[in-house]
Amino acid sequence: MGCTAQDVIAALRAGAATVAEHRDELIGLDRAIGDADHGENMDRGFRAVVAKVDTAAPETPGAVLKLCATVLISTVGGASGPLYGTAFLRAAAAVGDETDLDGAAVAKAIKAGLDGVVARGKAVAEDKTMVDALIPAVEAAKNAAESGEGPAKVLAAAADAAHQGAQATEPLVARKGRASYLGERSAGHIDPGARSTALLLTAFAEAAGA
Ligand code: ADP
Ligand code: MG
Ligand code: MG
Repeated sequence: MGCTAQDVIAALRAGAATVAEHRDELIGLDRAIGDADHGENMDRGFRAVVAKVDTAAPETPGAVLKLCATVLISTVGGASGPLYGTAFLRAAAAVGDETDLDGAAVAKAIKAGLDGVVARGKAVAEDKTMVDALIPAVEAAKNAAESGEGPAKVLAAAADAAHQGAQATEPLVARKGRASYLGERSAGHIDPGARSTALLLTAFAEAAGA
């Protein structure tokens, strides 16, 4: 079982549904250590992504991911828009023109996404950002792909690891983004971007049939 353009579109729809469902939770997390807009930003962005894939009908997984990237960059704003946009853009480049992704290609795409976020935002592990969800997700995805798992199980492994990574941001003091303005007072709260990354990966895994 591979992953076609239609499967990637279904994954993004599931991502949009999750973001809408968790909008208030993400707003609450961002209210504690930021400016209370992460849920709104992500909901606006993923609604626009779904609307756009419906009309543009991209034909390869890479084209779907690229469209998602450009829509997120133009609609989300804030720190997370360009970061998620870069992640999806790099993921698109990583899968190239392939029409049906296997587990290894999906793992490669997640890794490219992390590299894009790091290139753009310069965060390292334990800066209390989405990178703290992505680093373990990349490792878990790589391991699953190397054991021969397909897209659904690779995504499920990535999602589980991302949730643990997001949870582990709670005690950290933020060193990047708005939350870093709070210094020590940023400790004791889960990072909103790490949480949204984990939620998206779970939605993608479930859409893939995990
Ligand atoms: P803003 O902070 O501009 O209001 P959002 O609230 O939408 O944007 O997104 C905040 C999230 O962006 C944070 O929770 C964090 O995960 C992520 N973030 C911020 N700065 C960086 C960075 N330099 N590198 C990686 N992620 C970052
Ligand atoms: Mg914010
Ligand atoms: Mg903001």
